[in-house]
Amino acid sequence: MRDEKIFSLINEEKDRQTNGLELIASENYASEQVISAMGSILTNKYAEGLPGKRYYGGCEVVDKIEQLAIDRLCKLFNASWANVQPHSGAQANAAVFLACLNPGDKILGFDLSHGGHLTHGSPVNFSGKLYKPFFYGVKQETGLIDYDTLEETAKKERPKLIICGASAYSRDWDYARIRKVADEVGALILADISHPSGMIASELLNDPLDYCHIVTSTTHKTLRGPRGGIIMMRENIKNPYGLKWKNGNLKSMGALLDAAVFPGTQGGPLEHVIGAKAVAFGEAMTDEFKQYMIRVKANAKLMSELFLEKGYNIVSGGTDNHCMLIDLRSKGITGKDAEELLGKAEITVNKNMVPFDTESPFITSGIRIGTAAITTRGIDLVHIPEIVDIIDRTLTSSGDSSIIEEARIQTKNLMSPLPLFKW
Ligand code: PLP
Repeated sequence: MRDEKIFSLINEEKDRQTNGLELIASENYASEQVISAMGSILTNKYAEGLPGKRYYGGCEVVDKIEQLAIDRLCKLFNASWANVQPHSGAQANAAVFLACLNPGDKILGFDLSHGGHLTHGSPVNFSGKLYKPFFYGVKQETGLIDYDTLEETAKKERPKLIICGASAYSRDWDYARIRKVADEVGALILADISHPSGMIASELLNDPLDYCHIVTSTTHKTLRGPRGGIIMMRENIKNPYGLKWKNGNLKSMGALLDAAVFPGTQGGPLEHVIGAKAVAFGEAMTDEFKQYMIRVKANAKLMSELFLEKGYNIVSGGTDNHCMLIDLRSKGITGKDAEELLGKAEITVNKNMVPFDTESPFITSGIRIGTAAITTRGIDLVHIPEIVDIIDRTLTSSGDSSIIEEARIQTKNLMSPLPLFKW
């Protein structure tokens, strides 16, 4: 019997995704072939282990699929080693921590309240509970990463792992500078490129693999694949901890990371998701994808300029990537209220702490906006002024229901004729 309840709810969600303006910076619309690989019979297969080294029979075909995913990912980022099994970005980071650290070891990450991620040492996450976290943030005057504090803290605390990468930071990273610090204190670097990975793959931002020992990412944000995680390295270096195989040879870092994914933190890999990741990596190698990424970046840049013109404060004064963090204090509205007002107009954003926020994480003074999803739907530079205008009118409406209703209708008229995936 067909499950009408669930499939009608899926259709309801499809309507929501079609009619609204999706500005959550971590979201995107996957292509039909990504979705079809993900919704395939590959979900039926158990395949603990790695291609050619499984704990289950019948893995000949999924071996080929997973190997293709690994090979494509390595080609895309010019990496020599990759693991495509992490179920999510958080799982990828958990595996790196397990491979590189012992409980109680010191780590140095980008502060969550300045734009970092929970898995980079937050006290509510395993990374802050099992390890000893220290943080760097942004400079108050510029909103840019405070590399001086990063360096001072690293020299004082000598962490085993330095983590860079963010959930809400709109500028590029100086990976070379972080590597210099890491070499001085004997730390490894984990770059978590979950947000900008699609842009890095398209060579529109600095390449973290040039300088960072280990790189993780989600696959579902700018990379536009299925929900999932990945780990990669430019060089599969020998592990610095002296861990050896039975024959006395030093284990590679790749071997430690593979073991940290399975059996360290996960069971069977999701081969249907790995198949969909392979499709997405193939798409990300095309010129069409690079053109898409160029559009995402141009849309974000114009949007940030227009918000500035309307008197909004953008943390760091602009964007180099797909996202921006708007500090709403100059408009006298909280992040929570902004999220709710925009939601009524079917514009989805998320409230977000801004650096040195004066509100709690439940209220916040900011919103985070990203252009990856709307650009996939076909939104281009010509549409951006209208979108900024709708958002501005909604945010300054003081809750006036006729203004919000007008914004909702305008949003629907703009978005509903567009496909979920244009380019
Ligand atoms: N790392 C960063 C920088 C992120 O922004 C996110 C998700 O937003 C994650 C990790 C976690 O990814 P997931 O939600 O797939 O576990």
